[in-house]
Amino acid sequence: MSAYRCRKCETGVLQPYIKESFDTENTEIFICSNPKCRHRTVIPSAVIVISQILSSFMGGLFAAYLFIQQLSVFVTIIQLRSDASITKPILLMSISMVFLVGLGYTLMVGLDGLSRRRLFQKAAENQVYHAHDDESSETH
Ligand SMILES: [Zn+2]
Repeated sequence: MSAYRCRKCETGVLQPYIKESFDTENTEIFICSNPKCRHRTVIPSAVIVISQILSSFMGGLFAAYLFIQQLSVFVTIIQLRSDASITKPILLMSISMVFLVGLGYTLMVGLDGLSRRRLFQKAAENQVYHAHDDESSETH
């Protein structure tokens, strides 16, 4: 197992770093166990990750709905050769596309944070339960 090995010095192990109680909400810090290194890695908190994923997912659904709705308006106007202006549906489709790209990016950031949290939480568990195991006994 080297997933939680410090990427900077490559000898230390990243351990959960307990901060002062007043600023534990937004981020969690892992710190290298090598006293000469003390490299820190910050991972986003569960609240940030969950809100990023939820808000981008809900926003994405809304933007996708708006896009499909305006697409059907646009198609109807074209099919009926209507005199109605196609500027508005095109404009709204463009706006919803911009939202979809932005929300997709937010979703990727949230999922990246989630995978980092999983990696470090798994590392922290391994460290607790296998603290006395020899490295060579790991079956990886
Ligand atoms: Zn280190």
